[in-house]
Amino acid sequence: MTLTDRFGRVHRDLRISLTDHCNLRCTYCMPADGVPWLPRNTLLTPPELMRIVRVAVGLGIEEVRLTGGEPLLRPDCVDIIATIASVTPRPEISITTNGIGLARLAEPLRRAGLARINVSLDTLKPDRFHALTRRNRLADVLDGLQAAAAAGLAPVKLNALQLRGVNDDEAPDLLAYSIDHGYELRFIEQMPLDNGHAWRREEMVTADEIQARLARHFELAPLPERGTAPAERFLVDGGPATVGIIASVTRPFCGTCDRLRLTADGQLRNCLFATGESDLRTPLREGADDLELERIFHTCLGGKQPGHGINDPGFLQPARPMNAIGG
Ligand code: SAM
Ligand code: SF4
Repeated sequence: MTLTDRFGRVHRDLRISLTDHCNLRCTYCMPADGVPWLPRNTLLTPPELMRIVRVAVGLGIEEVRLTGGEPLLRPDCVDIIATIASVTPRPEISITTNGIGLARLAEPLRRAGLARINVSLDTLKPDRFHALTRRNRLADVLDGLQAAAAAGLAPVKLNALQLRGVNDDEAPDLLAYSIDHGYELRFIEQMPLDNGHAWRREEMVTADEIQARLARHFELAPLPERGTAPAERFLVDGGPATVGIIASVTRPFCGTCDRLRLTADGQLRNCLFATGESDLRTPLREGADDLELERIFHTCLGGKQPGHGINDPGFLQPARPMNAIGG
């Protein structure tokens, strides 16, 4: 039975967080210190991940995206990809990473079965990178990007967040850089998922603002038909380059959502903003059979709301921050 929810949305995309740890401390995601880490023994092992992916694929999941925290910090990340790639039918495997470590890992990851990659990069200026991530690692990210393209993980996608007064003048430079290097850039609106609950709607740089700023430098022509993809895409200066904007807050796309999420400690979530989770880890470790795991997928999906509710007056930010849920 496919993963169809009460609103007819068929779920084909499973996002798996491999760890809540990270080598950056982006201000919109994690605090500078004092993070309450998940106990190590709760992290799913490669065989446990494979079991869950096998069950999910049997239920119609076609794409598995690995994320975190920083997924490349898992010393077994290449093994995990190889293990997931051995599931039949093989799901399309992608990863969202901050790019640090890619210089070394891009080629082994591709050989293990990685098909696509998204690298997060908000600025090209080292001082701003330091202010945004609290670490001095811009050069490592840029090296990682090059390695990803050289390994054949094309088109490399870039994810960029804009923070008011920090890097919101940089959208055109990021786009010019992406076009020059053959990367596909997408801007993401900042969501209320930060560890410190400091998100303020008034401070968020909106999709309209990003689009207006880009339009001063580039000709943007909207591309039709985005299907279940979160990004609205535009042809830049007549193409072939494109740019995307993921306007989760101001232009929500929950009506076409086809995503489920698995936290690094084996909790299934039906939405980034869900306030509840379904435990897969405990039954898995206590010997549950596939039918039982399938039932948990369906129960989780049964509780999925029509939308994330960020714009509702009663909206509550989820207790788990982005690095613990998996973006
Ligand atoms: N560490 C990896 C990375 O940065 O790509 C993967 C995990 S990170 C949580 C995944 C994506 O979520 C990144 O592109 C990041 O910019 C984005 N993100 C983190 N916090 C966010 C927030 N509060 N609102 C919107 N996007 C956020
Ligand atoms: Fe780490 Fe990614 Fe969060 Fe930045 S956005 S702190 S790189 S998990």
